[in-house]
Amino acid sequence: MELTGKNYIAGNISAKGTATFKGVNPSDATELPTTFYEATPEEVAEAAVKGHEAFAVYRKKSGQEKADFLDAIADEINNLGNVLIERCSAETGLPPARIETERARTTGQLKLFATVLREGSWVDARIDTAIPDRKPMPRSDFRYMQKPLGVVGVFGASNFPLAFSVAGGDTASALASGCPVIVKGHPSHPGTCELVAMAINKAVEKTNMPKGVFSLVQGGSIAVGMALVTHPYVKAIGFTGSTGGGMAIFKAAINERDEPIPVYSEMGSTNPLFILPEALKEKSEEIAKGLTDSVTLGTGQFCTNPGLIFMNNDDNLEEFQKQTAKHFEEVEATAMLNKGIKAAFDRGVAELVNNPDIVKLAAKGKESSEGYKGIAHLFETNAKNFIEKAFLEEENFGPSTLNIVADSREELLASARKMKGHLTATLFATENDLANYTDLIEILEQKVGRLIINEFPTGVEVCHAMVHGGPFPATSNSRSTSVGTAAMLRFTRPVCYQNFPESLLPDELKTNNPLGIMRLFNGEYKR
Ligand code: NAP
Repeated sequence: MELTGKNYIAGNISAKGTATFKGVNPSDATELPTTFYEATPEEVAEAAVKGHEAFAVYRKKSGQEKADFLDAIADEINNLGNVLIERCSAETGLPPARIETERARTTGQLKLFATVLREGSWVDARIDTAIPDRKPMPRSDFRYMQKPLGVVGVFGASNFPLAFSVAGGDTASALASGCPVIVKGHPSHPGTCELVAMAINKAVEKTNMPKGVFSLVQGGSIAVGMALVTHPYVKAIGFTGSTGGGMAIFKAAINERDEPIPVYSEMGSTNPLFILPEALKEKSEEIAKGLTDSVTLGTGQFCTNPGLIFMNNDDNLEEFQKQTAKHFEEVEATAMLNKGIKAAFDRGVAELVNNPDIVKLAAKGKESSEGYKGIAHLFETNAKNFIEKAFLEEENFGPSTLNIVADSREELLASARKMKGHLTATLFATENDLANYTDLIEILEQKVGRLIINEFPTGVEVCHAMVHGGPFPATSNSRSTSVGTAAMLRFTRPVCYQNFPESLLPDELKTNNPLGIMRLFNGEYKR
């Protein structure tokens, strides 16, 4: 399991370019062993051609065969053992226990998609049988189901080196839907990317999949990503990362391609959290501690980090502010994922610190000068400022949050109305609060993908009912989710078969339903 530092193009190890880079340990800023070769545009093109060829075979694999492939990937990731945990921890500064949890989530995600494939109903089969004696015109036979799009390009984020990376949610959902995948490796964790690519390649061999079903192209410059986005054989993009990166890729897919393709850019979010009056009075200490933990978990590097905390200005406010400030001051500085993220976080903090007319620094965690450590920050402003200054709504990726105090219920609602799209919105509330703020819930429902009551937003369950997405700028396409089994539908399109003989229909659409799946048959859901 020696790292090669090379690209994995349809099962072949490849290093045709001269540009190289190294992984860095963000805990102490030291370079890690192994030099990585950035993929050339020719290598990206080769991966796309091989992916396109593989699609002709892979798209016809049965649900059972694809499920066996996903299960095998999960098993091979587990077989990497401690080598994966150690390299991933060294490249990200995340503690081994966190990486182990993320590995379980990643393999669990692959296995969950496998169960959906074995069950089979996800294809949304719809059958309207012919009515030859319909007057005035006979009706023909129509049969509809979801079919895969083709090669999918995947970009992972630095903060989830397993769950949103090489074998993360986008790869799992694209492979499950029948699409080959080319992953652009994240330059923050190249060794982790290569180890996982090795595991996928083993699973390809074990389950006899076409080799072009998976490729990994490494790179520390935007050229590699752009070569992937603009290749004509790439038919969809799944991106997770910064707003800048996500929008650059989205625009390139529109402006620099002859054929537009769907781009699912999952970007930054500030995840507003509202503490309603009775909850502030009754659960002040519990919320103050939970909030501090949620904001500073993983050095605040979660896309679901609550970065905007709204509350009314009443008698209970001061006590809550004191408690939260005390907890923030106890937080030890921990490693951020890389030098760039640390620099961007420090710039964001400085922008608020240097703006005393708009925000006040309420508390600061413990300092550290070692490696790329992020210091926790708690800021405060009023709702009037929030409504007037658009920049206060932007994500500062790291352990920082902004308390926003409203002078009235109306001002709290006006703050919510003014907001753009986010991944989540959270309410801390008693039953009375909820009854008194139904209008707030209605506003928030139009702003986010997931509404939460009395739990913190960090932590995204991988399940059938999850929505991890939201209106722009949280994502470039709010009509889907990037986590959970509904994510598969991002990489499919519906196809209708009219007047087809039984022998030519896919099994999912044959009249006798050989797969026993749930279908909409002449307007009625049945197996
Ligand atoms: P990032 O810097 O945008 O990197 C993500 C990937 O995109 C990398 O492979 C990067 O490669 C590539 N990339 C970035 N800019 C590009 C450009 N202009 N052209 C082509 N490729 C480009 O993101 P990150 O710093 O790793 O991740 C942190 C961010 O992700 C935070 O904002 C966080 O909120 C967000 N995030 C969102 C979600 C979600 O589900 N919404 C989940 C996790 C994280 P190069 O560096 O080689 O260009």
